[in-house]
Amino acid sequence: MSLLDSLYQELILEHYKRPRNCHVLEHATVQQEGINPTCGDELELYLVIEGDIITDIAFTGEGCAISQAATSMMTEAVKGRTISDAKTRAQEFRAMIHGDTPADALGDLKVLAGIAKLPARVKCATLAWVTLEQALNDQNTAL
Ligand code: ZN
Repeated sequence: MSLLDSLYQELILEHYKRPRNCHVLEHATVQQEGINPTCGDELELYLVIEGDIITDIAFTGEGCAISQAATSMMTEAVKGRTISDAKTRAQEFRAMIHGDTPADALGDLKVLAGIAKLPARVKCATLAWVTLEQALNDQNTAL
């Protein structure tokens, strides 16, 4: 394993041990459940959307290290962003996990690019983003 790989693993582990935005949001305007039955990952996503901005986001749930770390990173990546920004990140993230060159805008999320070589874990890494897209699509329907 290269030094870079081990640094990436450290960041993933760090998010798993101390997940960001991991709590219930009582004042959520949108709530969405996400499940990855192939691994047993479960996720409840809470968003506060004001206008077209995701002003707050949090999650609860349990699952493997990759799903938990990926969800923690996702919340950091979209908090304070517009809905269309978040949807763009989701598309970029999915492309990266399926082997495309990571988009620069993905920032720290690029540490998950290696998942592309682990097909069994792809759903673990994308669960948070799929769930986010479901929540945002519901939001558009409501507008
Ligand atoms: Zn998993």
